[in-house]
Amino acid sequence: MSCVDYFLSEEQQMIVDVARQITDEKIIPQRAELDESETFPTEILNDIAQADLFGLYIPEEYGGFGGGSFDMVLALEQFARGCVGIATTFAASALGAYPIIISGSDEIKQKYIPDIAAGRKWAAFALTEANAGSDASGIQTTAVLDDGDEWVLNGTKQWITNGGEAQIYTIIAITDRKKGPRGASMFVVEDGDPGFSYGKKEKKLGIRASATRELVFQDCRIPKNRMLGRQGTGFFTVMRTLDLSRPGIASLGVGLGQAALDEAVVHAKHRVQFGKPVISFQAVQHILADMAIQVEASRAMVYATARYIDSGARNISKESSMCKVMATDMAMKVAVDAVQVLGGHGYMREYPVEKMMRDAKILQIYEGTNQIQRNVIGQALNKEYSRN
Ligand SMILES: Cc1cc2nc3c(=O)[nH]c(=O)nc-3n(C[C@H](O)[C@H](O)[C@H](O)COP(=O)(O)OP(=O)(O)OC[C@H]3O[C@@H](n4cnc5c(N)ncnc54)[C@H](O)[C@@H]3O)c2cc1C
Repeated sequence: MSCVDYFLSEEQQMIVDVARQITDEKIIPQRAELDESETFPTEILNDIAQADLFGLYIPEEYGGFGGGSFDMVLALEQFARGCVGIATTFAASALGAYPIIISGSDEIKQKYIPDIAAGRKWAAFALTEANAGSDASGIQTTAVLDDGDEWVLNGTKQWITNGGEAQIYTIIAITDRKKGPRGASMFVVEDGDPGFSYGKKEKKLGIRASATRELVFQDCRIPKNRMLGRQGTGFFTVMRTLDLSRPGIASLGVGLGQAALDEAVVHAKHRVQFGKPVISFQAVQHILADMAIQVEASRAMVYATARYIDSGARNISKESSMCKVMATDMAMKVAVDAVQVLGGHGYMREYPVEKMMRDAKILQIYEGTNQIQRNVIGQALNKEYSRN
């Protein structure tokens, strides 16, 4: 339960209500089982598609709702209140779609985006490789133009969310190694393209309902027009994609933090020790108070950042990184605190907070670790202040 009124429009409130209903009726009842059995949440994604939420951030001309970052953040927060694994799966489809929206030609957008907007097809985004994590410039996957009309891709992408489940993949590959950062380009690869297969499926600490898998390209042939934007603009597209998607990861932190706080307060009111509910002890109240402060502060920052992005601001790397760090560090801390407030119960799988604690950790790692975000923020500050 949030205590601050953010003066949502009718449309925004409707997005929250629809996402909340799916979360309460579909996600929360199934999350423990999907997590335990590491099952991809196909049915729930279909429910989200039926509610028309896959197209929230997609322009109307490509079959979307025509909303923006704020609409996405509102929906993601609700889904994450239920399960960060399922919310990650939904968010990763947007992550895979952004490069097409940012850099794709009208023809390529018309080919792929309406299916993603309708939730008929899911997308995935592939940057990471075995030797290229934080240092994306270390990618080894190559794309070579063969006979002038087909790209041939070779290499392996690692830890790709929705890998093996999505039908549409946006991939960055080296097209001219000599050109350094301007030597990489982005492509769309489809499930079933010749030479494209799936490798190792990961077993994870948390977000177990989400699929994380290797993508293998062995002389994978795709038509020439599957390149996104001009040759050499791959890293530009990647950076812009991550700028747009990081507030979404931040909102997963807000949703998880809210859920952990809710569980902790309800438990503390019911658990009686020394003849009183444990919430009557000031030590417990202070933990809960700090949790509430941090959740609300993070929510305010994420909403403000999303609205700033929707205002048309272009230079958003610092702000996007700041809200990702704030809300995901908060989520980790608040989840650990919730386990503490529940005591031994919090450690048991029967209660949802142990899963929240496992799930929270990934938010500080994927889409750029929080150390890398701090580098981005620090470098931006250095630049800003050297202008004065
Ligand atoms: C579950 C999961 C899902 C993922 N989904 C996707 C996906 O869909 N698509 C995709 O492309 N990738 C995905 N990733 C990859 C993810 O984005 C990377 O794991 C992340 O960027 C960090 O890279 P790394 O794990 O190789 O860590 P490393 O780069 O090896 O870093 C190790 C440690 O060193 C620190 N470090 C490294 N360099 C610096 C530096 N310059 N300054 C300060 N600290 C530094 C890091 O913060 C970290 O603590 C996923 C990862 C996981 C675990």
